[in-house]
Amino acid sequence: MSTQLSPLHLVWFKRDLRAEDHEALAEALQSGPTVGLFVIEDVWLGSDEFAPAHLQFALECLKDLRATLAGKGVPLLIRTGSMVQVLDDLRREHPIHTLYSHQETGLDWSFKRDLAVGSWCRHHSVAWREFKQFGVVRKLKDRKTWPSKRSDIIERPIIRVTGQAPFVSPWSEWTGAIPVPDRALLKPGAQTGGRSAALSLLHSFFEERGEHYSGSISSPNTANEGCSRLSPHLTWGTVSLSEVHWAIQKKRSILHALPRTGKWLRSLEQFESRLWWHCHFIQKLESEPSMEFENVNREFDGMRESEFDDAKFDAWCKGETGFPMIDACMKALHRDGWINFRMRAMLLSFATYQLWLHWKKPAIFLARHFVDFEPGIHYSQVQMQAGVTGINTIRIYSPKKQLLDQDPEGRFIRSHLPELSRVPVSDLAEPHLMPPLLQLESGFQAGVHYPLPIVDPEESYRRAKERIFEWKNRSEVRRAAKKVLQRHSSHT
Ligand SMILES: Cc1cc2nc3c(=O)[nH]c(=O)nc-3n(C[C@H](O)[C@H](O)[C@H](O)COP(=O)(O)OP(=O)(O)OC[C@H]3O[C@@H](n4cnc5c(N)ncnc54)[C@H](O)[C@@H]3O)c2cc1C
Repeated sequence: MSTQLSPLHLVWFKRDLRAEDHEALAEALQSGPTVGLFVIEDVWLGSDEFAPAHLQFALECLKDLRATLAGKGVPLLIRTGSMVQVLDDLRREHPIHTLYSHQETGLDWSFKRDLAVGSWCRHHSVAWREFKQFGVVRKLKDRKTWPSKRSDIIERPIIRVTGQAPFVSPWSEWTGAIPVPDRALLKPGAQTGGRSAALSLLHSFFEERGEHYSGSISSPNTANEGCSRLSPHLTWGTVSLSEVHWAIQKKRSILHALPRTGKWLRSLEQFESRLWWHCHFIQKLESEPSMEFENVNREFDGMRESEFDDAKFDAWCKGETGFPMIDACMKALHRDGWINFRMRAMLLSFATYQLWLHWKKPAIFLARHFVDFEPGIHYSQVQMQAGVTGINTIRIYSPKKQLLDQDPEGRFIRSHLPELSRVPVSDLAEPHLMPPLLQLESGFQAGVHYPLPIVDPEESYRRAKERIFEWKNRSEVRRAAKKVLQRHSSHT
């Protein structure tokens, strides 16, 4: 063991890849010589929801983080394997004083990993100090108290992180090969990771893009620009929720001094409410981790489980359902790793209603394709859209209506499904109903150039509606729904 340095403080970076407004880092630096650590964990790489695009995004964030930390005199170690094994290896080379990290509300694998880390720390008398990353409260007893607790966490002043005098770390920065993602599996249109990308999104949103937020979030034609696009950055913590909160307040105070505010105030209000939802949904997973695997309302058990149709699932995943709005959204997701909220809800609703698939496999598929995959938001939204909570309004999206409302000129459809370029706009929602003569004249043949619908649009919609309401109105489902409301709603 090295004798030159006293035991070191170790900051374990997870999904908080920034060096500003970082409580764990700030506390460590105030306590003594500090080193940062990120572990590319085997359990993460092997988890169902993992995708190479997630690793790519994380590596880009780490590149930025390493440079910023270096400016503060903090070395960043990047290791692969299991967290406990890494801690063991580090401790063998040099003593660790305290481990600092943010709390993580994740999946079963990260929960078990945290238990193992906790027990390792106790065994080796290493203190582990955890700090809150989002407005999420551990061991929350009463949901009614949550809103004020969330405000206390998010609306605190920004934490300034000072640096330290550089020192030679006893630990080498890299060991083992960093698993570089297979380029063929990456998404060509995916967002770039890193704090500088996050700050540039924040800047463009509050300077310009955000004014039209409220009118542009529903259509896939306008959402790419109109939404903040901060989601992967909030997921990976390149920017903190408090920083976004204060950016909203700053913009508001600037607007209040102006004679005309355009659409800004309404947009800011809507945007701010989404940041509440962010924590509200993650709190649900924190309070009820089983929602990763089970219906939140267990009285829905058995509703879909026995009917999983692999061929329909496969067509949905590939974007070959014969429903242009569904297929175009899937192709967009394959390319960009992002699609707007309404289209996510429509995709999941179509899988679980019209195709009557249990939500778990579609949830995993979407998680792998969302670069912003955030377990708490994801599983809460999936269960809500699949109608298995018993407390949310049932929404069975009609892909035809969504196309007519959100893409009336067919721009989005045609850009993702060029095979429909010869189909007139009036037939884009249902190309299979195009008159045969017109098909002949245009050179487009439904069923040859583009799939026929894999389910009957009207019949599948009607049948799903009938079934879900039959289940939702059962007395045992309603009784269980009251308990779900108590557990998860702050308005009861
Ligand atoms: C089935 C389904 C799965 C989803 N899975 C995820 C996921 O894994 N990760 C994720 O970040 N979002 C998820 N969402 C929520 C939402 O679609 C995305 O947060 C949003 O599209 C991200 O784009 P943005 O950052 O431009 O959002 P903006 O509209 O600019 O919103 C700003 C931030 O608010 C939060 N937010 C926005 N909408 C919601 C919402 N409906 N619920 C909770 N928080 C919200 C996000 O953190 C988002 O980054 C899911 C929605 C559905 C219907």
